[in-house]
Amino acid sequence: MTTPKCPLCGGLLELDDYLFQNVPLGYGRYESRQVYIYQCSECRLSAEYGETPEEARRYAEELISKFPPFLMVHPGDNLKLAFENDILTVIGKDTDRGKLYLENCRGDVEIATPDDVDQWPWELEQKGGSNDI
Ligand SMILES: [Zn+2]
Repeated sequence: MTTPKCPLCGGLLELDDYLFQNVPLGYGRYESRQVYIYQCSECRLSAEYGETPEEARRYAEELISKFPPFLMVHPGDNLKLAFENDILTVIGKDTDRGKLYLENCRGDVEIATPDDVDQWPWELEQKGGSNDI
């Protein structure tokens, strides 16, 4: 299982499992229950609390899916454009204009928009590659 990336800053969303939440039992009594949450180690963006690590993971993935792909790409990520065979590396982006600055293996710089992207970094990873045996 890969560590999910923060959709805001590209930091790692890490599972925090040392948290406890007070659950009211009625009559003013509380039970301390362990909860799990994914939180970004950089910007503190966090998903909802889950009662199990799996549930917390689902909340983290839900949170990530609410962000447009463009925001989730960061310098150093690889992606593939629809009209290119090469895998390109993101070197920067212009969030206001929605432009991606990419570099190919020869060092040429290209400018693309999110519509030009065929496979985002996380789609490339899913389709195997170096991890395949
Ligand atoms: Zn973050």
